[in-house]
Amino acid sequence: MTSLTDLTIAEALAALDKGEFTARELTGAYIAEVEAGRSLNAFTTETPEQALAMADAADAARKAGEAGPLAGIPLAIKDLFCTKGVLTTASSHILDGFTPPYESTVTSNLWRDGAVMLGTVSLDEFAMGSSNETSYYGPVENPWRAGDGKSRVPGGSSGGSATAVAARLALGATGTDTGGSIRQPASFCGLAGIKPTYGRCSRWGIIAFASSLDQAGPLARTVEDAAILLGSMAGFDPRDSTSIDRPVPDYRKALTGDIRGLKIGIPAEYRMEGTPAEIIELWDRGIQWMKDAGAQIVDISLPHTQYALATYYVVAPAEASSNLARYDGVRYGLREPGNNLIEMYENTRGAGFGHEVQRRILIGTYVLSAGYYDAYYLKAQKVRTLIAQDFEQAFGRVDAILTPTAPSAAFVPGEKSDDPISMYLNDVFTVPASLAGIPGMSVPAGLSADGLPLGLQILGRPFEEETVLRVGQMVEKAARFDARPGAWWKEAA
Ligand code: GLN
Repeated sequence: MTSLTDLTIAEALAALDKGEFTARELTGAYIAEVEAGRSLNAFTTETPEQALAMADAADAARKAGEAGPLAGIPLAIKDLFCTKGVLTTASSHILDGFTPPYESTVTSNLWRDGAVMLGTVSLDEFAMGSSNETSYYGPVENPWRAGDGKSRVPGGSSGGSATAVAARLALGATGTDTGGSIRQPASFCGLAGIKPTYGRCSRWGIIAFASSLDQAGPLARTVEDAAILLGSMAGFDPRDSTSIDRPVPDYRKALTGDIRGLKIGIPAEYRMEGTPAEIIELWDRGIQWMKDAGAQIVDISLPHTQYALATYYVVAPAEASSNLARYDGVRYGLREPGNNLIEMYENTRGAGFGHEVQRRILIGTYVLSAGYYDAYYLKAQKVRTLIAQDFEQAFGRVDAILTPTAPSAAFVPGEKSDDPISMYLNDVFTVPASLAGIPGMSVPAGLSADGLPLGLQILGRPFEEETVLRVGQMVEKAARFDARPGAWWKEAA
């Protein structure tokens, strides 16, 4: 028998239903992997006792014929989702000791459906980053290593989620994506990750970064697993005013394996100068796979693409500076004393936020300030509308869009840390869809010359996650991506 931790969610559910093993056994196997994988630094808080209790409840439910769609499936939770009674940090010092008295809607939905919580996983502080190097709890390692044997970043900000799933420390994980934080780490770690349409998953109880962009979604080893997880995470929530009241389709049913006749758009503007040849070659291979599967390839133009990064890096910091104003040493987490109230604020925020978060707050308050609001923030909002209109027009002609996910494979830690612009450039292919609020998915499509995973991105019309998943699965099938990282962290332990 294959090891329990080699199964996908779909396989594990089928085996649990047949009684081949119990949720307790499956969870026990994952708890052992989490312990053996500590050197990867993916987990911030491990919750093994809670996991076993949830597994027992899943076993009992299954016996009683009342198993939910995720009964007994062990998951890792990005440490940005409030988890009742479990430390929630956003990987920031400023939330020291914050134990929420409530549960986020997305995680509540997962527990309602029987999933098991293995613990919380690390992220770039407040989800700001593309490498998971800015966590107060230290960088996370990508389980993949290139031929040179050097460490690689897992991508970010959902780097802990991606590492946990790729290293088989969890069957799946939650992520959040503001400008690419599900898709880019999925690409860097050889996973399927989907950011659904803005409003599809509730933001209630997710620590806010940029509220008009933040969306939750799953990271998993297969497209089918991502579809299963999304089905539980999604849904209307009256507590989030931007949540959309539409029924959640059966995403798994959408995986028909048939994309004949679908029109797939290839945006000219994504052929950016400076993109490595192997990324362009991978994209071209993807285009051929779509043709082979009977889809029709259509050349499209998204003319405002070149302004997307600049727009995002005005809008996102503006919203972040407002959202992060609440961390003042009074209500949550850390407090650094001062001689008066203002000094206490300054000391707390100075000590509690890392450099990248401080940089975003500075940019955000600047672009929102009276003298610069029109020149930066208002202008960015207008360009954001143009970017959304580009997609609207394109989706009049095509059913989905295929692009690379990221302009490179996973990079070496420290390579971009001193140069925020080069770090921001990593989001060049993911940010436009975030600004437009449309669904996007990364699917593993191949390996770089030095043996690291590369993803392709599929974008769809608002609320057409089903098409995105269906196309994604065809990429997955054609790519026959079965490589996996060697478990070097176990040998080292
Ligand atoms: N890398 C982007 C940023 O730093 C996106 C992060 C995210 O999607 N949370 O803002």
